[in-house]
Formats: sequence, C-alpha cells, structure tokens
Amino acid sequence: MADNIFAKIITKEIPAKIVYEDERVLAFRDIGPKAPVHVLIVPKKEIARVSEATAADEALLGHLLTVAAEVARREGVDDTGYRLVINKGPHAGESVPHLHMHLLGGRPMAWPPG
Ligand code: 5GP
Repeated sequence: MADNIFAKIITKEIPAKIVYEDERVLAFRDIGPKAPVHVLIVPKKEIARVSEATAADEALLGHLLTVAAEVARREGVDDTGYRLVINKGPHAGESVPHLHMHLLGGRPMAWPPG
C-alpha cells in the first residue's frame, strides 16, 4: 500500500469516522468539512488519481457513484441535493494522492465553483 493518509485510513492504521464500507470502497467524514455533510468516498484499490484509472477500473469507478448516492440517502441530503467532486492536479486542489470523491451537501452551493 502507498504511504499516504488515505491508504492508512483504509488499513485502519489511522482512525476515521467511517460511514460506509464494503469490500471495494470506504467512505468516511472529511476531517475539515466544507459543508454540513462532507464525506470522502475512496476505492480500497490503490489508484492515485482519476487519470491513473484504467478500463479495468470502470466497474469500480461506477461503484463509487452508486455508493455516493447511497451515502447521500443515509445522510439525509437526497431531497435537498448534493455535489460530487473529484479534484485532479494542482489547479483543482488535489492534496492526497489516493483517488477520492467528495460528497458535499446540507447547504446551497454556488456554481461555478471557485
Ligand atoms: P483533495 O483536496 O485532495 O481533493 O481532498 C483531500 C481531503 O482530505 C480534504 O478535504 C481534507 O480535508 C481531507 N483530509 C486530509 N487529511 C485527512 C485525514 O487525516 N482524515 C480525514 N478524514 N480527512 C482528511
């Protein structure tokens, strides 16, 4: 496993507030929430960022989306709505080199993002 914070959360070396887990995916609360609901959905497979996923990962990438929708329902933001974000590279603000999808909800959000 890579030596980054999310790899250590996946292996439970570092604690996190886990809200969903299955054999392929872990979802946990962001340590610095930017909205009342801010959950990170990560594949357990080591994929640094979306640009490093391959065709073999397509089912896993789709699973991230259906898990995000399920977590949103559980968090009570399905009716009011939510945003799913993947940051890739410096312009987007990627800061942890393990693929992760942000689920943000619980307040209105501006568009376009800053
Ligand atoms: P990025 O900027 O790479 O898209 O998102 C990384 C996210 O990880 C940030 O929103 C940041 O708050 C969150 N984060 C960084 N370190 C930790 C940690 O140790 N635990 C948790 N739960 N979230 C973290």
